[in-house]
Amino acid sequence: MAKITLSNLKHSYMANPKTAEDYALKEIDLDWEDGGAYALLGPSGCGKSTLLNIISGLLSPSEGRVLFDNRDVTNLPPDQRNIAQVFQFPVIYDTMTVYDNLAFPLRNRGVTEDRVASRVAEIAEMLEVTDMLTTRAAGLSPDNKQKISMGRGLVRDDVNVVMFDEPLTVIDPHLKWKLRSKLKELHQRVQATMIYVTHDQTEALTFADQVVVMQDGEIVQIGTPVELFERPQHTFVGHFIGSPGMNILPTEMRDGRAYLGSHEIPLEGPTAVTGAAQIGIRPEFVQIAEQGIPATVKRVTDVGRHSVIESLVGEASIKAITQGTVPEAGSPIHLSFQKSQTRLYKDGWIASEASA
Ligand code: ADP
Ligand code: MG
Repeated sequence: MAKITLSNLKHSYMANPKTAEDYALKEIDLDWEDGGAYALLGPSGCGKSTLLNIISGLLSPSEGRVLFDNRDVTNLPPDQRNIAQVFQFPVIYDTMTVYDNLAFPLRNRGVTEDRVASRVAEIAEMLEVTDMLTTRAAGLSPDNKQKISMGRGLVRDDVNVVMFDEPLTVIDPHLKWKLRSKLKELHQRVQATMIYVTHDQTEALTFADQVVVMQDGEIVQIGTPVELFERPQHTFVGHFIGSPGMNILPTEMRDGRAYLGSHEIPLEGPTAVTGAAQIGIRPEFVQIAEQGIPATVKRVTDVGRHSVIESLVGEASIKAITQGTVPEAGSPIHLSFQKSQTRLYKDGWIASEASA
């Protein structure tokens, strides 16, 4: 196991990159602590696989360095980095049995057959594939092939890091939640550094202790699931995480007070922000109240455990989550925002409350 450091990392797939847009990774500085369970979360095309392939050595960065325990490995090929990578689609040997597939990474490293047998048995049990060990991999369903592929990534206990690149893509929905919690359990058992890449917030938030959120080749926030929920550092994180995401409302700052139309929105602390800014409030913290901001109900959606009420305040659309009785579309209501959960953003970034 090792701490992995990415220092001043940039990557462009172009021969002569000029502007920032030419870079798939813009400027990445990041430490992955030894033994951590990380998720790398962001929309398709934001640079997640590029970052992973640079860590594994499949790709050489245009600029910057990769360090394992402070040792520069930027120019080392993948097989000398001692990492395991699980891809989106199964990478297994069809002609071999499941047992031999799982044993392969160990035999490759000269591990004794006794030890191979016990590791394979252990991993097979964790992934619930013990009954398939003597089957040829060619005959397996796509789900099971991917499980074996994951098993191959997990079977060695001496790797610096295990990286999963959207591993559940080919897995059936009903099996997904099961494997997801299985991976979490596996991390607790093996204690290896794991980086789990996904565009799916549920997968990221269930697996990871720390979530690294990316957008357009840049890291916008690193935090625990709770931190990302309660204090998004950027409106992108607020909107990307949550279901539905954070309400982001235009506001006008006057004398340190935030206004939505003519209504003041109480903030948690003092601020030096002036002029146009944004209020961020999650639907969970918007209440329908006796008094507050007058709004008109636009749409009510019953999503099972609760309802989402979408209403209009002037031009601004605001979503609220409620468990109680719901108003009818078109009816007038009042909204109140929970002050301790109301955030202020300037140019997309959170405005620190102590900056006054
Ligand atoms: P993600 O894994 O987050 O979906 P990628 O790292 O695959 O994103 O891609 C980041 C950006 O780099 C995208 O704009 C993608 O089109 C581009 N890209 C990825 N791989 C290549 C490649 N081999 N050649 C050229 N451009 C690429
Ligand atoms: Mg990818």
